[in-house]
Amino acid sequence: MPLNACELEIDLFCRGMRIPDDVALEGARGITRTRAGLGSGLEVVIPAHSSVKDEIWVNVPVAESFAHRSPYSLTDDPASGYRIVDVRDDASYAVRLPAEPSWYSRLTSRDIPMRRIGVMQGTYLGIYLNMVCAFWKYDPPLNCRFCTTGQNVGVAEAGEKAVSDVVETCRAAREESGATFVHLNGGYLGSRGIEFALPYVKAIKQQVGMLVGVQLAPEHDFTRYDDLIAAGVDHLSFCLELLEPEWFARVCPGKALVHGQQLFLDAMAHCVARMPRGAVSGEIIAGIEPVKHTLAAIDCIAALGAFPTVCIFRPTIGSDMESWPPPSYADMRRVMVHVYEACRRNWLPIGAAPNIEVSLVVNPDETPLLAERTMRFYVYEVFRKAVKLAATPIFRRRLHATA
Ligand code: SF4
Repeated sequence: MPLNACELEIDLFCRGMRIPDDVALEGARGITRTRAGLGSGLEVVIPAHSSVKDEIWVNVPVAESFAHRSPYSLTDDPASGYRIVDVRDDASYAVRLPAEPSWYSRLTSRDIPMRRIGVMQGTYLGIYLNMVCAFWKYDPPLNCRFCTTGQNVGVAEAGEKAVSDVVETCRAAREESGATFVHLNGGYLGSRGIEFALPYVKAIKQQVGMLVGVQLAPEHDFTRYDDLIAAGVDHLSFCLELLEPEWFARVCPGKALVHGQQLFLDAMAHCVARMPRGAVSGEIIAGIEPVKHTLAAIDCIAALGAFPTVCIFRPTIGSDMESWPPPSYADMRRVMVHVYEACRRNWLPIGAAPNIEVSLVVNPDETPLLAERTMRFYVYEVFRKAVKLAATPIFRRRLHATA
């Protein structure tokens, strides 16, 4: 039986896709090895044909060795356009390849190509803000074992990004790609991460008027989060990654040594108490530690009032975990059903913000496609629609430049 759009997204994350040499990708978004390296695939849009979701954006792994053995293959027919074909059962799925933004090659006023400042990952703009995460500079390095930031910053993207570079790139993404959300992330910078990010947040809110998300290593002085909130930040996320302490220490040695898991949870709880519901998320990576721990992490984050963002592990080329196998579809489908259930149980208003489709993860608001159609499902869907409607004027205001 053919998969629905969310199931196909999950299977593509787990198995990747082959691109035969005769399939032309002209005009499609190029593969970008920026930030932690998760954008190393081909951006694809899958129509969802569902009342709960129009379409799903997914960054499909194509470069990693597991993708070369994938049952999925991209075809390009002049009459029917791009399709993804599954050789196991000949199922064929119509997809679209989003175009590369024309502003990518434009220069900022400091003569830096804008693609080296930020990249579109789905419908939002992703910018890695600071210099290389300090965990890469320890001897031996303490970087998270799945991450390739240390190889990408300063190579595939600019090593230093001035506020003006970021503002100009945000403006181009807003005006020409219709982006409403910019996600600023950075690695570990000691206790200076938020201080470093603040001028960028203020400038974007004042001069561009986008929704701004910030994702940084947690800091002990929680009043710094209050400064970010006062500056108008719209979303804060915390990368807990793994719940089981031994797995956490093994895969994220820097985070285990310097922060500890409790700091992530405490910082999350502090921000949840100060921001609108749905404005804080906890990120985890699924497919490394046993699934039962991933399910417990989802419950833990949702119970705090943050929404769980679950990234399916990708053994990215060049990472310390390059030779690890990707997770199984059955496990990841189970995880995503759990995301939906946890959000529903905690009345989290997933999918309320306008036009934020993240191609690197299965977005929580895509998981209703996996849910059983029960009375609880319909009640939660009515709740989500009501919240989205009520939030529309609020987001409209927040999308105006304040200066
Ligand atoms: S904290 Fe970990 S995942 Fe984040 S940039 Fe540093 S090494 Fe990469």
